Amino acid sequence: MPSTNMPVLEVKDLKKHFPVRKGLLRRTVGQVYAVDGISFSIGVGETLGLVGESGCGKTTAGRAVLRLIEPTSGSVKVAGTEITGLSKAEMRPYRAEMQIIFQDPFSSLNPRMTAGEIVAEPLLVHGTGSRKKRDEQVAALFARVGLRPAQMSNYPHQFSGGQRQRIGIARALALGPKLIVGDEPVSALDVSIQAQVINLLQDLQRERQLSYLFISHNLAVVEHISHYIAVMYLGRIVEYADTRSIFTRPQHPYTEALLSAVPVPDPAIRRKKMVLQGDVPSPVRPPPGCHFHTRCPYAVDRCRVESPPLREIAPGHQVSCHLR
Ligand code: SF4
Repeated sequence: MPSTNMPVLEVKDLKKHFPVRKGLLRRTVGQVYAVDGISFSIGVGETLGLVGESGCGKTTAGRAVLRLIEPTSGSVKVAGTEITGLSKAEMRPYRAEMQIIFQDPFSSLNPRMTAGEIVAEPLLVHGTGSRKKRDEQVAALFARVGLRPAQMSNYPHQFSGGQRQRIGIARALALGPKLIVGDEPVSALDVSIQAQVINLLQDLQRERQLSYLFISHNLAVVEHISHYIAVMYLGRIVEYADTRSIFTRPQHPYTEALLSAVPVPDPAIRRKKMVLQGDVPSPVRPPPGCHFHTRCPYAVDRCRVESPPLREIAPGHQVSCHLR
């Protein structure tokens, strides 16, 4: 998929299938098609928003990209180097370049470690500098994310939710990464705090030319931070375009439905209301044809038998729908 500069991350036909096992012998009786052949790239200093309802495979995709779980197949290149198949030792330098920020900062921070120790941990693991140097680096990171260096000796429970997410961001920044995967990084926060954390991420991106894969179930959250948006449904990308095109000219009925739930600040602009019925079907037995046909108000017979390919309908705008 298009990206205006040299990709930091290039993902091609990435799949992650989990076996479904049953019985005493734990025989494999099926597969969960969590991620089923997705491709995208992210350039230096760019953000790709990966959006979809819970169960669409976006979190699995983020973890497979980082090799926190092993992809079933496909290619993941970081700054041009294929990282699937690299050994643990060979992965080490790439681990430093790719970091993750989790949704729930409380459960992702060790309650028995001080905030300073948490942020210093990646530096320690990667053997960077002396104790004094690490302390200086951690104090600088605290200041940069809007925390007081004096708070380094406090424990996670002594911080608010927004502050805890700032600790998570400082930890992710410690090794000077090129790419950060944010897995619903602001979803657990109050709306006013969400805006502050997103502003901080944008400032850091400008300063450090960071690239983000920003995962969210909420299109409104990704709008301000994303340069491009990929909409996922049942393990596949169903629409990809620059953020403006997604918001002004959505082409896939699923994107339309997600957008209709996003409030429009300008009362002169009206969006068609489209309420999605039911939940995302099980990825163990995805519906045949177009996976979305069981919930799509425009479905025709062809949709029930033939899977629509993802194709370019305008420069840089890709959609998988028979009617486009
Ligand atoms: Fe709806 Fe058919 Fe398009 Fe799928 S291919 S989104 S079911 S119209």
